Amino acid sequence: MPKYIFVTGGVLSGLGKGVISASIGLLVKSTGYRVTAIKIDPYLNIDAGTMSPYAHGEVFVTEDGGETDMDIGHYERFLHVNLSRRNNITSGQIYYSVLTKERRGEYLGQCVQFIPHVVNEIKNTIRDIAREYSADVVTVEIGGTVGDIEGLPFLEAARQMRFEEGVKNTFYVHVALAPILPSGELKTKPIQHSVQELRKIGIQPDAIIARSQKMLDEEARGKLSLYGNVPIEGVFSCPYIDTPYKIPLLLQEQGFTKYLYERLDLPNRSPDLSTWRDFIDKLDQRSRAVKVAMIGKYTKIRDSYVSIIEALTHASAWLGVKPQLEWIESTDIEVDSSILSRLEGVDGAIILPGFGKRGAEGKIAAIKKLRESSKPVLGICFGMQLMAVEIARNMAGLEGANSQELDPETKHPVVALAPSQDLKRGYGGTLILGSRRILIEPGTLAWRIYGTREVYERHRHRYIINSKYISMLESVGLKVSGCSEEGYSEIIELKERVFFFGVQFHPEFNSKPLNPSKVYLGFLNALL
Ligand code: GLN
Repeated sequence: MPKYIFVTGGVLSGLGKGVISASIGLLVKSTGYRVTAIKIDPYLNIDAGTMSPYAHGEVFVTEDGGETDMDIGHYERFLHVNLSRRNNITSGQIYYSVLTKERRGEYLGQCVQFIPHVVNEIKNTIRDIAREYSADVVTVEIGGTVGDIEGLPFLEAARQMRFEEGVKNTFYVHVALAPILPSGELKTKPIQHSVQELRKIGIQPDAIIARSQKMLDEEARGKLSLYGNVPIEGVFSCPYIDTPYKIPLLLQEQGFTKYLYERLDLPNRSPDLSTWRDFIDKLDQRSRAVKVAMIGKYTKIRDSYVSIIEALTHASAWLGVKPQLEWIESTDIEVDSSILSRLEGVDGAIILPGFGKRGAEGKIAAIKKLRESSKPVLGICFGMQLMAVEIARNMAGLEGANSQELDPETKHPVVALAPSQDLKRGYGGTLILGSRRILIEPGTLAWRIYGTREVYERHRHRYIINSKYISMLESVGLKVSGCSEEGYSEIIELKERVFFFGVQFHPEFNSKPLNPSKVYLGFLNALL
């Protein structure tokens, strides 16, 4: 029978609950149990796919083509597993399912209500996922903050699950902020209030994790224990530190697993974190600095590109380099081209993925400058498409060449809507999504990077390089070095160039701390 660890948040959002849930999962997994992780997002979207990264950070893509919340990415990286779209539950999915059942007549004769119907749907979905993974332990992170109206059915489901599964099979962790006043004094009152809020709903947390600038002192822990009604051993500190990958170690040093296993009535096994510690040591030992320009249009919110940042971190640990990221907003380049001179001071650049017209010309201008100055460039998805546009315009002399996404009337649609795509089907979950096979051309840079004939990487796009233009682009030095089964261009590079490499997919979604992405390794290697 699986055990469920519910993670709730208090005081404000954006506390790193995802990383904390992932860290708890890693600790449990490292004691030998089978773990899976669920993220609940109480918003009404069916999935994260239709949201801008400004709303909820990056849209993470799973192997099976789910467009999920970015926390699924944290779970995959910490647990070293691939999860499914099913691991991300939204209110939209729950209501959709309940309403579909109602129309099918599955509740005939009944008045369909939040309690029991919606809450039962939530509990059943959580239990189904636990079963699918044959999990011994499931972490269930409830997004948002306690007190949000839309989160209530999920908290009610968590409450009922203790009732139904038993005290020894459920554990509630409350993660909340302990702010520090300008005087330096750490305050626990906001956490006390959010625990009260939780208790009003009927949930008494078993553990409190205080997110703060520093460790809690004994007095603060004592207060949280007393007012939060949690034993002192159940009050933990989670200060902001240089890397989230150290959080599992931090919790472990404070006796988290011992306390958790006492509560869950599991034998007290100590997690084997040796490989994780090796990775942390590699991170700490990085010395050689490299400057990487990150060129995109959601640069004001770093969460927009979290998997890319993490993929760079993983690769950097294995290579012993320390990337310094220089964020360049492509929309700014469009109004002030002198910003491009910042590229002179970097060792290489990543042209970030994206959608739509805004900022695209800024990215194209940056690609031109980087290509002409022979700096290593990695283009991801939209970035790769714009590399093809730049080559078409400036090397093949195709004036006005563009992507149909940016200019549907362009004379030279070097990037065009993929034949399988139909915009009339709407925008939810209709892109080319998930893991797909890519065939690598021997003797190319792609071949040197991957070292195999075929690879699987995750996709999220509607447009592709237009096959009609490939021979023309190849005649000026471009090489298509990877293709999909349908013959879509998956990887492009420039012959005779050190590193000018564009990928139609997102290698960052497959990168793990203990198994870094070969593309990101190849890119960083090219900067040395
Ligand atoms: N907008 C482009 C497309 O739909 C690229 C998407 C992306 O960068 N993920 O094909």
